[in-house]
Amino acid sequence: MPPTSISQRAAQVIPGGVNSGQRLIPGLTDLVIASTEGARFTDAKGRTYTDYHAAFGPPLLGHNDPEVAAAVAEAGRRIDLTGVGVTEGEVELAEEIVRLVPSVEKVLLTSTGSEATFHALRVARAATGRRLVVKFQGCYHGWHDSVSLNVISAPDKVGAQDPISTGILPEVLDATLVLPFNDIPAVRQTFAEYGADIAAVILEPVPHNVGCLLPDLEFLQSLRDETTKSGSVLIFDEVITGFRHALGGWQAISGVTPDLTAMGKAIGNGYPVGALGGRAELMELFSTTPGAPAFFAGTYNGHPSVVAAAHATLRKLQTEPVHEHVFRLGAAIRTGLAEIFTELGVPAVAHGYGSVFVSYFMDGPAPRTYTDLLRNDASRFIGYRRRLLEHGVFELPLNLKRSHVSYAHTDADVDALLSATRAAVRD
Ligand code: PMP
Repeated sequence: MPPTSISQRAAQVIPGGVNSGQRLIPGLTDLVIASTEGARFTDAKGRTYTDYHAAFGPPLLGHNDPEVAAAVAEAGRRIDLTGVGVTEGEVELAEEIVRLVPSVEKVLLTSTGSEATFHALRVARAATGRRLVVKFQGCYHGWHDSVSLNVISAPDKVGAQDPISTGILPEVLDATLVLPFNDIPAVRQTFAEYGADIAAVILEPVPHNVGCLLPDLEFLQSLRDETTKSGSVLIFDEVITGFRHALGGWQAISGVTPDLTAMGKAIGNGYPVGALGGRAELMELFSTTPGAPAFFAGTYNGHPSVVAAAHATLRKLQTEPVHEHVFRLGAAIRTGLAEIFTELGVPAVAHGYGSVFVSYFMDGPAPRTYTDLLRNDASRFIGYRRRLLEHGVFELPLNLKRSHVSYAHTDADVDALLSATRAAVRD
């Protein structure tokens, strides 16, 4: 029988049936997206969901933002990729990033966040001549092999890890030290032992791929102190935290400045644009000359259409009360969720930061490390999110995945989310 539905056709020609960052979700295997607008998407069956998954975070302004769409269309008509020279748009975008992000002096534009973290690790190794990279349990930094590992290691085993994927060379795994987040003694001990061989520490200042852990400021400062002392490179992966939480990212919020910053997602409101920025001395090691310390040659770097998307996004973030709006809605959601859990006597924690929210089904204080998160009742989490789908609310039904609110969401959407939650949790 020839395939009939789009999802059946997809399964025949696309591995796993999806191209996006998400594998097919059990029970939602026939989800075919037909259109998006503002806070919502509609599937091919005509069912509309209020979207709090938001493609893991990019559309901070909401889907199909009119100014972003117009800027992309205009760029598409006026200027295409040439692969030589430079455009005024990309220079202005780099200037804008330098102005907004405290520690950034020079910028390399990329197409994805993964390229930004990959380049960061490569240049850190080139600059230091060292091998080891320190990262934190459960954290994700992109799909390249350099450190693209989800880690489920025991907290007492520094360096032990379960990679997210097979097919990664053992040398890569051996070159990665995995520490518990928010654990200053573990950082100090690791630097005392391996400091002279540590090229870089890479972290999300607020790890979002393990729920949404909040950092102790002293912890971030201890990383800055140890890397400075040992001559290692401190890399902030601000692919999520940059622009979504503040124009200058979490380095502006925390006051702790890294040497390199990876950016992506919200900077283009959903268009494929990322950036690596940092101290001039490190960034100068990038070159398109073969044999350079950090060779790069991305065909699409600085593509005029995505540069236009980033300009339109950054303009709106600076001229309209976007952050104020999403922070207000995010806070209302967290407060509302906590009230519902108390009222219904459900052991759960409403957690998150700014526009990001997530609920963990567990007793006790808010989690600070990945190990704490293992107390979350995954089946309850997934069951609750599945129930939300029946109410037209889309939060990804996969354990520990965070949700996002956008500028296009309204107070009425928040009320609807909370009513759906009350019903879903009661069930
Ligand atoms: N870093 C973090 C923290 C991310 O969450 C992601 C994507 N989920 C990446 C890097 C990789 O970005 P991209 O998917 O654009 O390659």
